[in-house]
Amino acid sequence: MSNKEFSISLVVPVYNEQESIESFIEAIDQELEPLKERLEIVFINDGSKDATREAVEQAIEKDPRITLVNLARNFGKEAALTAGLHHAKGDAVVPMDVDLQDPPSLILEFVRLWQTGDYDTVYGIREDRSADTPMKRVTAGGFYRLFNVLSNQTQLPENAGDFRLMDRRVVEAIKQLPERNRFMKGLFAWTGYRSVGVPYERPARHAGETKFNYWKLWNFALDGLLSFTSWPLRVWSYVGIGVSFVAFLYILKIITKVIFFGIHVPGYASLMSVVLFLGGIQLISLGIIGEYIGRMFIEIKQRPIFLVEGVYGQYAKEDKPDEQEIQDQPTSQEKQGS
Ligand code: UDP
Ligand code: MG
Repeated sequence: MSNKEFSISLVVPVYNEQESIESFIEAIDQELEPLKERLEIVFINDGSKDATREAVEQAIEKDPRITLVNLARNFGKEAALTAGLHHAKGDAVVPMDVDLQDPPSLILEFVRLWQTGDYDTVYGIREDRSADTPMKRVTAGGFYRLFNVLSNQTQLPENAGDFRLMDRRVVEAIKQLPERNRFMKGLFAWTGYRSVGVPYERPARHAGETKFNYWKLWNFALDGLLSFTSWPLRVWSYVGIGVSFVAFLYILKIITKVIFFGIHVPGYASLMSVVLFLGGIQLISLGIIGEYIGRMFIEIKQRPIFLVEGVYGQYAKEDKPDEQEIQDQPTSQEKQGS
């Protein structure tokens, strides 16, 4: 590690994690001893319904490096992370989970690679997902592959999560992105810059339960895909061309048959098959358009991504970031300068 002074912010979204806060801070103290003086920990309380907030406030009493950003309600992990990025002050920022599934000791390696000056992002690669169920491993693997095939602009490194170290310039780039649909992994990757992966074994959750069931994960995957590719929208032209071509051949066949052999009345089965098949295709394509329009509707309303109830800790007493800047994302008129 070079002698150059630098500071690191850990950005930790927490939702109903009362039993994890203390062990998390203990683990940080132990495993990140060499970074002791350089650390800041920003907890974002994402509208927890248990005593998470009190747990963080108790921790603040003992440790002035801790900040609590208390959101007005549960906005979801991606929004909470965004709030954290807006409040983190470090030269490098590390988003991580509070359940110790992101091993703190790996941050030393992140910092070492970052300090070489060759990389702006150092991300963790989940080498061993044996802590996950086979179903989760298969679906996650499939998702990364599908994402990378459909989105040619942004390539997600396989098995990389949110756990990574980002240089200040990457964080500033992400803070500029105004979208409401925040698939953070995708946004991180979208920034480009120089990045490198570090493999690690992802342990099971330390305490508490996962906040993501399959329905949530499915919607999360859809959000991620649809906000990085318009391919599902455009594919219907090609499906249409294909179906029309087959239909044309079939029409030629029917006409020829009628001319040479006269009209056959029976045809209920073939008629029904075609009607149902085309009906299905049309509903699917309409559904996909609906998915995009629904997301456009959310974006167009330009509601803030999160609302902050208050910021607590030593940091809050020092220089606050401009709340205005965080809450009021630029509107389209402002962007046009009118
Ligand atoms: N989290 C959050 N808001 C939510 C759901 C989760 O801030 O609405 C936090 C949670 O407290 C944890 C992190 O996001 O620190 C990851 O959640 P979890 O461990 O449940 O996800 P998994 O590891 O199972 O994917
Ligand atoms: Mg977890």
